[in-house]
Amino acid sequence: MSTLKYDLVIVGAGPAGSSAAKAASEEGISVLVLEKKASIGRPVQCGEFVPKALCREVDIDERCIAQEVDIMRTYMPDGGIIETSSPGFILDRALFDELLAIEAAKAGAHILLRTKAISICGRKVIARPVWRQAGCDGEEINIETKVVIGADGPISTVGGWISQVNREFVRCLQYEIPLTRGIETTEAYFDPRYRAGYGWLFPKGERANVGVGIKVGSRGTRDERRAMRDESRALKEALRHLVSRLERDGKIKRSILRVSGGLVPVGGYLRKTWGGNILLVGDAAGQTDPISGTGILSAILCGKIAGRIAAMSIKRNDLEILGEYEVEWKDILQKPLDRALRRRKFLDANWPYSPLTDNGEKELSQLLRENWVAFRSYYRET
Ligand SMILES: Cc1cc2nc3c(=O)[nH]c(=O)nc-3n(C[C@H](O)[C@H](O)[C@H](O)COP(=O)(O)OP(=O)(O)OC[C@H]3O[C@@H](n4cnc5c(N)ncnc54)[C@H](O)[C@@H]3O)c2cc1C
Repeated sequence: MSTLKYDLVIVGAGPAGSSAAKAASEEGISVLVLEKKASIGRPVQCGEFVPKALCREVDIDERCIAQEVDIMRTYMPDGGIIETSSPGFILDRALFDELLAIEAAKAGAHILLRTKAISICGRKVIARPVWRQAGCDGEEINIETKVVIGADGPISTVGGWISQVNREFVRCLQYEIPLTRGIETTEAYFDPRYRAGYGWLFPKGERANVGVGIKVGSRGTRDERRAMRDESRALKEALRHLVSRLERDGKIKRSILRVSGGLVPVGGYLRKTWGGNILLVGDAAGQTDPISGTGILSAILCGKIAGRIAAMSIKRNDLEILGEYEVEWKDILQKPLDRALRRRKFLDANWPYSPLTDNGEKELSQLLRENWVAFRSYYRET
């Protein structure tokens, strides 16, 4: 068994982990990032939209921008179309994540690919190569460390170490599809079939990400397998419905270039995003917006705070300092995330679920006027 020693171990090389790794390495501490995938950012499981406000947090390399957009069009179930200003970029997410990791490495972080964190034992993180690697022989690796950052996504292993895990999810299915002609706006689609979720078309030049997310039951229930089969059927049906509509509207060609999907945590941020010598960040901390499902910006923002605070705690040899992380990120994100969670709970409770009623479309349109980001009343404090 090989043993390594680092001041800080970060689990996950997504936007949260790489941002934390860069911030911490710049403070002069030793940082190891564990990433179970063989290639950072791949496969892409994302609609790839980011708001332009992200430019305040990171330099976005031009090569990562597939398309710029300024307007979001919301297609209401009653046939209405709402246009709102929503300036942003559709990214090449794989390249974006890769470049964030390269920045972290340039700052001094070491990154171990194909290596999965599996448990913690006192001050040691136990990891295992996902495939046999030269020098590792598939054996467990012990990493002695002072602080651990869990940036390991919606189903977080590290979160389990402090009993803080996401329980509410939207499950997404997405196709990459060629467009018949360029589209200048992002598009959001609502229908009672898209169970407490929505469909999207995010254009990137000649292609688009076309997907649907639907709310799924809490994990850990007794009849989970049956529920998942039913959810998977409902999700496929919802995406089929959206694709047919887009084909009928003449927007997309009849061809699927890539299939992806994944889980988005929508139950709000976790009660505790730190405990002992562990911080949670990004999707692992539930910092994702429970209504829009976007999480790249918050993952980067919170990752930077987590990396800086972890380094300060290590340099001063004081774990209490880690509590500052939660204070700092809540200062910025608590209000919008709390608002989105209130809207999410209302949508979940009042969505006109199947069997579809005759006036389900009207009911849903009414519901969205208070609970979808395109409407001013969404932002009203209640
Ligand atoms: C279909 C879909 C569409 C989306 N569209 C958008 C969008 O358009 N815009 C937006 O802002 N957000 C979107 N999101 C959400 C966004 O992708 C996440 O919020 C964002 O990726 C969070 O970043 P992260 O670094 O916290 O986690 P991740 O990007 O999930 O990174 C976690 C990393 O940890 C690694 N990992 C996990 N467990 C371990 C382990 N035990 N050991 C080692 N490594 C581990 C994983 O391999 C992964 O690389 C979408 C999500 C989905 C599923």
